[in-house]
Amino acid sequence: MHTITLIPGDGIGPEITQAVKDIFAAAQVPVQWEEQNAGQTTFDQSGELIPQSLLDSLEKNRVALKGPITTPVGKGFRSINITLRQKYDLYQNVRPAKTTEGIESRYTGVNLVLFRENTEGLYSGLEVYDERLGIADSFNRITVAGSRKICRAAFAYAAKHGRKKVTLAHKANILKMAGKLMLDACKEAATEFPQIVFEDKIIDNMCMQLVNKPEQFDVVVTTNLFGDILSDLCAGLVGGLGVVSGANIGDDMAIFEAVHGSAPDIAGQGKANPTALLRSGLMMLHYLGEHQLADRIETALDATLKHKEQCTGDLGGKATTSEFAQAIIAKLA
Ligand code: NAD
Repeated sequence: MHTITLIPGDGIGPEITQAVKDIFAAAQVPVQWEEQNAGQTTFDQSGELIPQSLLDSLEKNRVALKGPITTPVGKGFRSINITLRQKYDLYQNVRPAKTTEGIESRYTGVNLVLFRENTEGLYSGLEVYDERLGIADSFNRITVAGSRKICRAAFAYAAKHGRKKVTLAHKANILKMAGKLMLDACKEAATEFPQIVFEDKIIDNMCMQLVNKPEQFDVVVTTNLFGDILSDLCAGLVGGLGVVSGANIGDDMAIFEAVHGSAPDIAGQGKANPTALLRSGLMMLHYLGEHQLADRIETALDATLKHKEQCTGDLGGKATTSEFAQAIIAKLA
């Protein structure tokens, strides 16, 4: 039995979380949920954005599944996602993007996994503003250790999952120091995995190539800001943010999350698509070594996605969140 910290989040979070819980229960996944919330709802109730009890639960269980959290704009709150990633050194942001029958997209044959460095770069939180001069500086801190860790993680993943190629997206032609650290770290990791082809592309060319011929990419690794942008671009190649999964992984802790937001416009109406959180839950099952259960649920999900009428409105169907979940459950057998 795995004890998992479950963070339902805000907006549609509780609805999609319930759908995942129902599907896992029907598939008899050996998990015990420890529910702890964070975000706007928690703040309204207790005055705390991230309660200590959530941190205690994470530190004990080391694995969490997280719904979307509302980040109030312009109120000075640091994003909860960024806070957790940095506090626990969850340096890998892993975002698979794969075309799936039944999910509309302009492309076919996309099957890539993006590794975004998750703690450094322009998200280090190192910013200064000189009011007198009217100058704001945001520091793009890249470390040798951080670059080595993320590049090695991308190659290790490629080797473990039978993938053939790792592409580094960078801007080392302009960022002569910070960009070069990642390039050097990737070249170093490549020597350890000679069976994996290594290539590097400058980020602007990478964007063009991704929209032009995305099927050429296998595993992609990049820095924090480029990864933030590329990962949503890749989601757009395969049906959008409502269907892609994500994970924040460190050496001894992982938080799996739906990458879309809390969708306040449809919250509480039974319209939310649970696919993204479910797929993140399946990544979690693989992380926990429950490969057969993950494959079984994925097969049921893929079979359901082929029947539009059993899916939620964003996928062209009319089903509610729980009807969609029940359709998946019906196919588990
Ligand atoms: P959003 O992703 O919440 O919504 C964008 C659009 O996509 C909306 O029309 C919404 O209805 C739709 N949508 C999103 N998820 C869906 C789903 N599962 N099923 C069906 N439709 C779905 O983005 P936003 O409106 O820019 O952000 C809302 C809030 O979410 C903000 O407070 C933002 O900070 C937060 N946010 C959180 C995360 C996270 O916790 N990982 C990520 C992005 C945004």
